[in-house]
Amino acid sequence: MNAPLKSLAAVAVKARATELREFAVPDVAPDAGLMRIEATGICGSDWPMYLNEKPGPRILGHEMIGTIVRLGDVARARWGVSEGDRVALEEYLPCGHCEYCRTGEYRSCLETDASLPGAIRYGSTPLTVSPALWGGYSQYLYMHPRTVIHRVPAGVPHHIAAMALPIGNGFQWAYLDGEAGPGKTVVILGPGQQGLGCVIAAKAVGADCIIISGLARDEARLAVARELGAHHTVVADQEDLGAVVKKVTGGRLADIVIDASGGGAAIVNPSIALLRKRGRLLIVARKGPIQGFDLDQVIAKQIRLFGTRGHSFEAVELALKTMAGGQFPLERMSSHVVGLNDIDRALRMVGGESAERSIHITVAPWS
Ligand SMILES: [Zn+2]
Ligand SMILES: [Zn+2]
Repeated sequence: MNAPLKSLAAVAVKARATELREFAVPDVAPDAGLMRIEATGICGSDWPMYLNEKPGPRILGHEMIGTIVRLGDVARARWGVSEGDRVALEEYLPCGHCEYCRTGEYRSCLETDASLPGAIRYGSTPLTVSPALWGGYSQYLYMHPRTVIHRVPAGVPHHIAAMALPIGNGFQWAYLDGEAGPGKTVVILGPGQQGLGCVIAAKAVGADCIIISGLARDEARLAVARELGAHHTVVADQEDLGAVVKKVTGGRLADIVIDASGGGAAIVNPSIALLRKRGRLLIVARKGPIQGFDLDQVIAKQIRLFGTRGHSFEAVELALKTMAGGQFPLERMSSHVVGLNDIDRALRMVGGESAERSIHITVAPWS
């Protein structure tokens, strides 16, 4: 018989505050499961959620890895996993039946779009939706029947495996959407965990030239980008990125520009200027309305403009395979591992409200 379990979790109770609470762990239905969380990565998107009181108290964190400890018979058959398996989950809880899900684009499923009422996803669903354990900053997680599961390759430590989603985003944006590969020049704006994920992906698929830009305060992140394989790093508040791209490509310019900087609307027109004809611009962070958007250049250069978010199943699998391969010094991306009682400090680091700088922070809920 299952002994009753308790789970400690950091609940985001109001804007800018979490509180440790204990929850009774639910029994699992035949089509559901329970994960003992080993580690959860802190994502940049946790910061705006931390600042927002809506939709009410909830457990944040959506980049979980851990061990399946309880499993219903239907879930065991459907998911093809067993108790004791070490897995990584995605944040999405897609319906499995809509047009997006049926075409493999389940990250666009409306049933898991957290901006819509009634939709569910890990790390943003409130406590009021039973059984409350929807977030990664917790010791246990409820595995909903619609959970998306990946196996974690043997030997990958928890603070590396917890980067499956940001590195997966790198594979999605640089490779699957951007089509980086041999012969291509990729420019990445912003050396945060996802920008670094783009460096890893571009390198893994053989891009000829990888250029990444950041600000002077990002010096440590740019150094890690070089270790991960970036050919050139540019300090954009001290150097002219356009001139560097022109020089290192011999005037040919970039095939792909990925704006992972969150740098606002002002960055879009200069990004278009970095592209050769028929290049691709991928915009990841929201920019708001753009004054003077250079549509003429988009047409003259036949630019393909992609608004992109999140990852496909394939992208996360590629990230996990890359971790297993061991050819990248991913350790260098892991700047902090913290416990549940340090979530507020960690989130302020991610939000840039701390003198201490981070790259990737792992929450280890049993430490
Ligand atoms: Zn995330
Ligand atoms: Zn769907």
